[in-house]
Amino acid sequence: MEKIAAYLEEVKKIAIAGHVNPDGDCIGSCMGMYLYLTENYPELDVDVFLEEPKEVFSFLKDFDKIRTGHEENASYDLMILLDISSRDRVGVVGDLIDSAGKVLCLDHHRTNEGAYTWFYNDPEASSTAEVVYRFLDPEKISEKCAEALYMGIAHDTGIFQYQNCSPETMCVAAELMKKGIPHSWIIDRTYYQKTYEENQILGRALIESFLFFGGKVIVSVVRERTMKFFGVTPKDMDGIVSQLRNTIGVEVAVFLYETDWLEYKVSMRSKDYVDVSRVAAVFGGGGHARAAGCTIQGMHRDVINAIAKELDLQFREHDEAVKRQEKNDEEDG
Ligand code: 5GP
Ligand code: MN
Repeated sequence: MEKIAAYLEEVKKIAIAGHVNPDGDCIGSCMGMYLYLTENYPELDVDVFLEEPKEVFSFLKDFDKIRTGHEENASYDLMILLDISSRDRVGVVGDLIDSAGKVLCLDHHRTNEGAYTWFYNDPEASSTAEVVYRFLDPEKISEKCAEALYMGIAHDTGIFQYQNCSPETMCVAAELMKKGIPHSWIIDRTYYQKTYEENQILGRALIESFLFFGGKVIVSVVRERTMKFFGVTPKDMDGIVSQLRNTIGVEVAVFLYETDWLEYKVSMRSKDYVDVSRVAAVFGGGGHARAAGCTIQGMHRDVINAIAKELDLQFREHDEAVKRQEKNDEEDG
C-alpha cells in the first residue's frame, strides 16, 4: 500500500464517489479525500459525487461542491470509489466506471468483490474513513479534512462503541482530534441530534416493533403511507435499526421500509454472533457481519419470513457450536 500520491501520476481529472444513500462514513470519506486532494494538489481537477446528503453534513468544508449528477460526456483519468460495498451500489457516476482510465477503490466491506485497477479492502477496519487515513500523509491533513474523516469513523463505529472499533481506530481518531476539530460538536450535531419528524418516526417504529425467536430478533416495518403521514424520507430513518438493536436480549434487529409497491429496503444489525452480511447476501445485498442490508421484493410478511428462515439457520449453527464447545469443555475438565 502506497500513499495516495503514488496513484496520481499522469492524472489530471479525478472523480470521487461513494455509495447510494450515503451515510456518515461514506460522506466523511469522500469529503476527506476531496479536501486532501484539492488542498494539497491544486493542479488537479477533482469532482466529488454523492446523492443528496442530509443537511446535518453541511458544516463540512466544500459541502456545496458536492455534485449530485454528472455531465453527459464526462470522463475521468482516475475514479476513487469509497465505501461502496459493491460495484452496482456506486451512486451518481456508476455509469462512468467502465470508461475511466483507472479506478482506485478503498473499502471495508467483506462483500466487495473487487475488479478495479487497485483495490484496498480491509474488512477489519472500522470504517472507510480509517482506510482513507492510511493513504494520506498525516502532516498534509488539514483541520477541515480531519473533521470529515473523524466524522466517518465516529459514525461507522456507533461513536466508538461497536466491535469494529480497534486500538488503531482510536489512534487514528486521536491524530485527527489533534488537528483541533470540534469533535464533540460533530458527534452531537451529526449523530445524536434528530429533527422532530425523525424522532416521531423512530417512536412509531419502536411502538410497532415485535419480538420473535424468543426475543432474539426484533423487527419493525414502516409502510410508505406512514412515511408520508409523518413527512419523512429514508434519510430520516437512519438510526432506527440501531435503536431496535439496543433492546436487551436481542441478537438481531431487522428494520424494513417500503421503497415501492411490494418492495422493501432491509437494514439488519446484530450484536454478538449472527453474521447479517450472510443473510443480506442471500437476497443480493451485502455489508458487514454486524451491519448489512438488501432490498427484497414481496409482501412484508413474506419478506420477514424469508429473512427469518436465514436467521433460523444461523441460530441452529450457533446452538450446535455452543453445544460442541460445552462438550469439549466437559471432556477437558
Ligand atoms: P444500512 O442498513 O445502514 O443501509 O447498511 C448497513 C451496511 O450494509 C452498510 O455498510 C451498507 O453499505 C451495506 N448495505 C446496505 N444495503 C446494501 C445493499 O443493498 N447491497 C450491498 N452490497 N450492501 C448494502
Ligand atoms: Mn462504511
